[in-house]
Amino acid sequence: MQSSDSTPHHGALVLFSGGQDSTTCLAHALTRHERVETIGFDYGQRHRVELRQRGEVLRELRARFPAWSARLGEDHLIDLAVLGQISDSALTRDMAFEMERAGLPNTFVPGRNLVFMTFAGALAYRRGLDVIVTGVCETDYSGYPDCRDDTMKAMQLALSLGMDRRFLVETPLMWIDKAATWRLAHALGQQGDAAGGGDALVRMIVEHTHTCYLGERTQRHPWGYGCGTCPACMLRAAGWARWQDQDQRGDGHGG
Ligand code: ZN
Repeated sequence: MQSSDSTPHHGALVLFSGGQDSTTCLAHALTRHERVETIGFDYGQRHRVELRQRGEVLRELRARFPAWSARLGEDHLIDLAVLGQISDSALTRDMAFEMERAGLPNTFVPGRNLVFMTFAGALAYRRGLDVIVTGVCETDYSGYPDCRDDTMKAMQLALSLGMDRRFLVETPLMWIDKAATWRLAHALGQQGDAAGGGDALVRMIVEHTHTCYLGERTQRHPWGYGCGTCPACMLRAAGWARWQDQDQRGDGHGG
């Protein structure tokens, strides 16, 4: 689902939560599209820190990456508090993070990503944007069926048919793991025109993006802030360690 360079597009809307993945997707969009806007969802997340870091990341991108700042347009925060009425999730209620019988983490809100994509499509239509970029991934979170490649292809078709507009859904992280996501951020950062190049984007992601399920931002690790023990932190930390390891062997970093 990658766009070819010969296809004219009218700009991209990035599903942006303020985490590592969606920030990397935003950098990806900023290297490819001349006009980029962002959409985020307030669905009663238990930790407001996620929404706060979202604003921080946008501010940092604008301040430190002049080539991207010119392309980065409006940010749209959509109130989806209504999702709380139909979900019983550890992200919105005080429940332990356990795997449920179906093998899905109980942070799972059934079809949540379908709702996000539908709102993104409607907003993209209104804003005249025809590319929708999302950081969904089959490699790390294959437990979420609404993040799978087939689901995204079906959404691209459904949105295009349902709005009679040719949408392209870009999923730059679909088949890569967290180590490769760090590597991708480094490569994209070199195109962002910042002092410090690829390292500058990696440093910004480490300092300002938020991943931790527990909303923890007092403990600083080499890979960023977080409790270090929740599934999201462990994934981010393990990806960082693998990337650093591969970097030292000289078969990754810098590409
Ligand atoms: Zn954590």
